[in-house]
Amino acid sequence: MATKTPSMMERNINTIIEVFHQHARTEGNTDTLSQKEFKNMVKSDLANFMKKEKKKEKLINDIMEDLDTNDDKQLAFEEFVMLVAKLVFATHEKMHASEQNLRGKEHSHGSGFGK
Ligand SMILES: [Zn+2]
Repeated sequence: MATKTPSMMERNINTIIEVFHQHARTEGNTDTLSQKEFKNMVKSDLANFMKKEKKKEKLINDIMEDLDTNDDKQLAFEEFVMLVAKLVFATHEKMHASEQNLRGKEHSHGSGFGK
């Protein structure tokens, strides 16, 4: 029998989907992010992880262009989730950045982004 209570990892995946929908439904197509919706999402929900980007509209636009693989000026969930993958990877890298014992037996994590 599967447990009914979602695990922390499952809740975190649900949160990513919820945040995407929260912004996607504000204008136009309710299941894609427009440029404006994407900017609002970066500013309100990725303010620490994308500290530099949130201050520069041009950077946000460039990131959106990279993610928008079918070039329709909208981010579908599968396009948006590539940003999440990059952030997860970059955060893990950052946690190891100041670490000296990577080659040792211990595996430890420093703070990630925005801390
Ligand atoms: Zn690690």
